[in-house]
Amino acid sequence: MKRSHKPAPSASDRGIRRAIAYAAALGTCWGALPLLFLNDASVGGKLLIACLCSGMLGGGAFVLASIPPAAIAFSGPIAAGSFLALLLGGDKDYLLTLVVLLVYSLVLLRAVTNYAEGIERRIKTQIEAEAKASERLDRLHASGLHALGGMASGVAHEIAQPLAAASAYVETSKRLLERPDAEARPLLERSLRAASEQIDHVGEIVARLRRFLLEGKPSLTYVGLQALIEEACRVNASFLGDADVDVRLNLRARRDAVRADRVQIMQVLSNLLRNAVDATAGLPQRHIVITCREEADCIRTDVADSGTGVAEGVRESLFEPFMTTKPKGMGVGLAMSRTIIEAHGGKIWMEPNASGGATFSFLLPCDLQSESEEAERTPA
Ligand code: ADP
Repeated sequence: MKRSHKPAPSASDRGIRRAIAYAAALGTCWGALPLLFLNDASVGGKLLIACLCSGMLGGGAFVLASIPPAAIAFSGPIAAGSFLALLLGGDKDYLLTLVVLLVYSLVLLRAVTNYAEGIERRIKTQIEAEAKASERLDRLHASGLHALGGMASGVAHEIAQPLAAASAYVETSKRLLERPDAEARPLLERSLRAASEQIDHVGEIVARLRRFLLEGKPSLTYVGLQALIEEACRVNASFLGDADVDVRLNLRARRDAVRADRVQIMQVLSNLLRNAVDATAGLPQRHIVITCREEADCIRTDVADSGTGVAEGVRESLFEPFMTTKPKGMGVGLAMSRTIIEAHGGKIWMEPNASGGATFSFLLPCDLQSESEEAERTPA
């Protein structure tokens, strides 16, 4: 024979049951009061009993409102006792009291259920908020990994060059070691010094990444923005090529020096490029035009695409985290881009194109120091 094992009631269940039992016992005692004494009492006594019962009915219902069954177990017998006593007494003078008591009980009962519903709503809202928060945490974790992945590809690209150079210098050094002549010695020293410099450079890049991950602060250096745009296109070349998107560069800033963290700005450019490619998916004409020009004391970059444009309801929250319309999107690319650009003292925004598609633009302040150094170097 199968036995069903019911789970043992929890401590809070046991507490609720006990409260209901006590409330029912107390309510029954109070409910017996009018039945026993009301009809034999004087007019003043009747009034006193009616007031006491009404007060108990209201007060008890409110005190126990957070446990509706206990509130009903308490006020039910009092209401029933009062009604019965008034009905059995057959005293027409008390009919009005009966009606008032009835209305009063109904109002109280309604208040109790309202209160309980409010508590239930609050609990539900809290549970939903907690579920959302935990979902957000999961996505944040995933997006953190995604962002790290993106940044890692930028760093890998930066590291590859000095590592290749260091490896070439070491190869040269090996060959120089085999040469017996005296001229090889200074060449060997120079080659080893150059290899060591390249390896130090790799160390700097890794330290910069570590600093950013630990402190979240950009590591600012002089960056020529137009060269960085070209580099971003090279880094994403296979992605752009696979999508068969035509990318045109319109780099016309005479001065393009910004103080920036090149890995982070590369990340922004890659995000904008990849979004532009996604926006043109499936369309016969797939163009992206990247323009770079001066605007007051800033350098402005526009990434314009011939895509579908930003959906109407998405515009207001475009740069908010987790805003995505893509089935496998994370919705962190633009939010992260805004954080990066604003950390550099710039701003980023989107405008729809007159001919369709969207243009994402960002401004970065010019590096005035490197400009004044440049002016000092250039004779008038
Ligand atoms: P994801 O690409 O993971 O969705 P993003 O933060 O990069 O995250 O983009 C958020 C949303 O903004 C996208 O899902 C898309 O709806 C919209 N969006 C971004 N770039 C473009 C664009 N060039 N054209 C149209 N919509 C875009």
